[in-house]
Amino acid sequence: MAALTSTQVLDLFRRVGALLEGHFKLSSGLHSPGFMQSALVLQHPREAEALGAALAAAVRPLGPDLVMSPALGGIVIGQEVARALDVPAIFAERQDGALALRRGFTVAPGARVLVVEDVVTTGGSTRETMDVATRAGGVVVGAGSIIDRSGGNQGLSVPYSSLAQVAFPTYQPDACPLCAAGSTAIKPGSRA
Ligand SMILES: [Zn+2]
Repeated sequence: MAALTSTQVLDLFRRVGALLEGHFKLSSGLHSPGFMQSALVLQHPREAEALGAALAAAVRPLGPDLVMSPALGGIVIGQEVARALDVPAIFAERQDGALALRRGFTVAPGARVLVVEDVVTTGGSTRETMDVATRAGGVVVGAGSIIDRSGGNQGLSVPYSSLAQVAFPTYQPDACPLCAAGSTAIKPGSRA
């Protein structure tokens, strides 16, 4: 159950429409041959639980006491990783633009914190969550995500695990080779 190959993870994403391949106009305005929306997988509790168990298996040797995720994207998978590790899961959320712990969440002094996200692209929100954990008194022992979109460039200073790697190029519309080939970019999800 806990052993999920990268191929199985990506097949799961494709099956529920969370990983689309074609020609897309992203919310950034850029065009891309691929689109991902992990919430479409995580809406299914059994799949979320299986992904959490698989990620937990990879990070268990780090001995985390606590999982911390950035809201909103990291909350569901953070909860599921924590369930599998049998540790608490808390989340940081934006307040005046910066991630912070709210709702009475605390970190015990010296607690071994694992930062969990759905997708890591630049590593920016992971780093920001690591800073929140450190300022709260924890020791960040690692980070994990379902999907690694960083192309190996996330630059995190702690051990990092993912279940699958995905790399989709993005293009300015006027430099998009898919447009040049004559196809039209569609908004993800509009493929009825
Ligand atoms: Zn295009």
